[in-house]
Amino acid sequence: MLTEREQTRYRRQLAMDVLGPRGQEELKKSSLAMVGAGGLGSAVGLYCAAAGVGRLVVIDADRVELSNLNRQVLYGEEDLGQEKALRAQRRLAALNRDIEVEGVVAEVTADNAASLLQDVDVVVDCLDNFAGRYVLNQACLALNVPLVHGACTEMQGQVMTIIPHQTACLRCVFPRPPPSRPSPILGCVAGTVGTLQATQAIKLLAGIQPGLAGKLLVYDGHYLTWDLIEVEKNDRCPQCGGTA
Ligand SMILES: [Zn+2]
Repeated sequence: MLTEREQTRYRRQLAMDVLGPRGQEELKKSSLAMVGAGGLGSAVGLYCAAAGVGRLVVIDADRVELSNLNRQVLYGEEDLGQEKALRAQRRLAALNRDIEVEGVVAEVTADNAASLLQDVDVVVDCLDNFAGRYVLNQACLALNVPLVHGACTEMQGQVMTIIPHQTACLRCVFPRPPPSRPSPILGCVAGTVGTLQATQAIKLLAGIQPGLAGKLLVYDGHYLTWDLIEVEKNDRCPQCGGTA
């Protein structure tokens, strides 16, 4: 049940037919892990905390640098040199004290993924490299937890929701990692992609359809266009092939 305070806090979204008190209670009971607390994670964390996702686990091994601040709006200059996961925990807890926020200073690896992600209802990929994304993809397949992928570079971005063993996984669509290097990025483009990931995650947790699973959404911030591309499972995928 929602407290009186929560009913006031979430008034503007409780009034939505598609969410309502039932969807809000589902959000309150749910838990989400965001892996990466950078440009994508800033938007995911802020909007999921504001919306009332009951438990947020923020996982990141890095510290805040000055060159992060063009896009990582969770942080300010007073956070420079501090661990992102812990500063994000503090910021999100300050935004909403009716939820639980847990900062974990760690990099998700094949060895620790299962223990870090075992109790969550959805994982949001806010990483910046495909090696880490493949680890997340594999862990979510093994744990049977939905994964909301997001990525961006310069003025382009993409979002995809993966339902393990039902839809294409990340590796079905991206069988080989693109070159890994720090890419140029306009901060608000990362914010747009992260906001779309938050929307998808909140819908998954609250049971709102359509989930848009099995589709890759591609955003072009230069021409301000969106494309929704159907993606198919690859039976020979090294990560999910033959497991459907
Ligand atoms: Zn696959």
